[in-house]
Order: sequence, then structure tokens, then C-alpha cells
Amino acid sequence: MSEGPGAGTIQTTALIVAAGSGLRLGAGGPKALVEVGGRPLYSWALDACRESSRIGRIVIAVPPGHASEFGAGDVTLVDGGAARSQSVEAGLAVIDTEFVLVHDAARPLVTAELIDHAIFALEVEPDVDAVIAAAPVTDTIKEVDHEGVVAATLDREILRSVQTPQVFRTEALRRAIELGDVENATDDAFLIESAGGRVSVLDAPSSNIKVTVPADLAMAELLLSRKPDQL
Ligand code: C5P
Repeated sequence: MSEGPGAGTIQTTALIVAAGSGLRLGAGGPKALVEVGGRPLYSWALDACRESSRIGRIVIAVPPGHASEFGAGDVTLVDGGAARSQSVEAGLAVIDTEFVLVHDAARPLVTAELIDHAIFALEVEPDVDAVIAAAPVTDTIKEVDHEGVVAATLDREILRSVQTPQVFRTEALRRAIELGDVENATDDAFLIESAGGRVSVLDAPSSNIKVTVPADLAMAELLLSRKPDQL
């Protein structure tokens, strides 16, 4: 057995999903190519994968028709699909390693350290199909009905806000995608859960934000300009 996040024998491919349209960001083009900190958004996550001691190969699911804008020699590009998990499915078609680490191109604050910890956590949990990064919830979350009336207040202590990276046993994810509702899954771990698999959570910093709306871009710029120990 490996002795820490730095070592490891299981082969892992990183799959960066970058095929989203970016409509909510309103940038007039694919979100992954929007500039943040002077570089395309996706390139931050790509660098973190390159810095990881456990990633052997990197695949990026790109928006169809935009592959030439992702030009980098050491990565494999595939056309993404209409829904997020369809982009993952397209990536899996060219991946044959035992583990696959799925990461949103829209999360530029990910670190090689978080990636390595997530892979290590799956290596040491043989009964688990996936390990997902998640942060504690700081807001109070309420369930509301269709009229906007509160139906319940949830216990914050047992809630987690789920992020990527998400590391999977590749065959388990492949099976879950075959069986699952890929058009409506907002994260891939949900498909594993739906197929009866076990998903374990790894505590991650809330600074690992997803860029979705313009205010997130400003926040990402600010956080990327800080040193990791200031996050
Ligand atoms: O839409 P959302 O912001 O939740 O997307 C999360 C990640 O999934 C983004 O990096 C986006 O590029 C990716 N995605 C994709 N294919 C889609 C939809 C989203 O690769 N069809």
C-alpha cells in the first residue's frame, strides 16, 4: 500500500471537462476560454493536473469546433457533449486507466495537493467507488415548494457543498453512465450513487470555487492573485 499522497502505483488519467457553453457567464463564447489572471480559465486546472505527482495523462473535453483554441501538445482533446456527463462519457471513451479524476475547467483554484489527496483517498478505500471534494456549508439551506414557501430547514452540520475533483474507479463510472440519467446529472458522483455505489467525501477548501456568473470571475481573479496559504 502506498504511504501518502506523494506515492502511488494505480494509474490515473485526469479528465478536465471544458465543454460548457458559458451562457450564465455571458462572455459570448466558451467559458473555459475566458481570460482570468491573464490566461484562459481552463489553463489553471490544466497546470494543477500537470503538477500532480499522480496524474499520468490528461484528457480535455472541449466545446465542439473549438479544439484549436486548446492547443497543447501533452493533452488529448475530445469533443464534449450537450450535457456535462455526456462530456465525461466522451472522455471515458479514450481512457483505459484504473482511476479517472474528473475536474471542472471552471474551477481554477484547484491545487495539485488536493488532486493528490483525492487520488490517495480512493486508493486506500477499497470499498468505495468514488472520492469527491466537498466543503462544509456556511449558509442555512431551506427546502422550498413551487410557490417559494419554506417546506423545511436542513441540518447544516450534515450538508456538504460538492466540488470537483472527483476521482472514480473508471469501470464503476463507465457502468453508472451507461445506466444513469446523464442528461440531468449535475455531478458524476450522483450517477454512482444512483447505481448503488459508495461515494466518500474529502474535505476541500471553499476557495475551490466554480466560475459560473460574472461575480465569480472577479472572485477567481482575486483568489488566484493570493498565495495558497492566504486562501
Ligand atoms: O455548467 P457548469 O458550470 O456546472 O459546468 C461545470 C463544468 O462542466 C465546466 O467546466 C463546463 O465546461 C463542463 N461542462 C462540459 N460539458 C457540458 C456542460 C458543462 O464539459 N455540456
